[in-house]
Amino acid sequence: MVAKVIDGKAFAAKVRAQVAAHVARLREEQGLQPGLAVVLVGEDPASQVYVRNKHASTVEVGMASFEHRLPAETSEADLLARIARLNADPAVHGILVQLPLPKHLDSDLVINAIAPAKDVDGFHISNVGLLGTGQKSMVPCTPLGCLMMLRDHHGSLAGLNAVVVGRSNIVGKPMAQLLLGDSCTVTIAHSRTKDLAAVCRGADILVAAVGRPEMIPGDWVKPGATVIDVGINRIERDGKARLVGDVHYESAAAVAGAITPVPGGVGPMTIACLLANTLTACCRAGGLPEPEGLTA
Ligand code: NDP
Repeated sequence: MVAKVIDGKAFAAKVRAQVAAHVARLREEQGLQPGLAVVLVGEDPASQVYVRNKHASTVEVGMASFEHRLPAETSEADLLARIARLNADPAVHGILVQLPLPKHLDSDLVINAIAPAKDVDGFHISNVGLLGTGQKSMVPCTPLGCLMMLRDHHGSLAGLNAVVVGRSNIVGKPMAQLLLGDSCTVTIAHSRTKDLAAVCRGADILVAAVGRPEMIPGDWVKPGATVIDVGINRIERDGKARLVGDVHYESAAAVAGAITPVPGGVGPMTIACLLANTLTACCRAGGLPEPEGLTA
């Protein structure tokens, strides 16, 4: 079997177009423009690139983008005061604090200072609790993107065996909650899991979120399974820098039914879902119907 390639780049472009159309309607019919504030503390080069990309994508779909660049030595009190101002600003519907923060700042404290309704990353403890209890929440962007691709490919996910490898708060755990919400039978695997190969071979849906280059080979994949590779790993091969996932793509694609490539799979969906969440937050704030197909 040769797997169908799930094209995350094309899917993300579709989601962004859907968001842009909805934003245009909101502006025309309600005089409302969704706004996303991104707070960057310090000069981390990778974070600067992410923030630049987020700004460009936000503007591209017709939303307002507010960038708050603060010096690395910003105190916790000053950062919390900035977040309080953004919480109170009616033009701001989504707030994202770019992680990692400099070491002297307590990320949990900072994230939990964001108003849950504006927490478009879905990391606030209230949103984590709402998701865990199956209530309406803000859902973390990367797992939301994976869920959208899975629903698009399968239609219903009910009854499928899903294995999520990785139990981080930003990917593995929320991914497992979302799959459970769609009535999969879910297993969460991690570094202490016994016979991971056998666990993976039982998966109709295999989500890899580990951070280890090409750790999952094709013979761990059940024939016909859908493989979602969240991993982004920078390696050097044949003297060239390359990005690879947590799954060994060539061997897995030979047995899977469908697979996301790296790059061009899950990655592009993450920013698209950030925009979708900002739109959702704006609609909820205005008491308007939520965009269809863009929430969990
Ligand atoms: P974390 O490092 O927070 O979590 C990794 C998880 O993998 C942990 O739960 C760990 O288990 C588990 N793990 C580590 N080694 C093994 C092993 N040998 N066997 C089984 N499980 C193992 O990573 P993240 O969840 O933040 O990210 C995972 C990957 O996804 C990374 O490559 C990251 O770059 C990528 N990523 C991609 C995004 C995108 O937009 N596409 C967004 C976010 C992340 P334990 O808990 O036992 O230590």
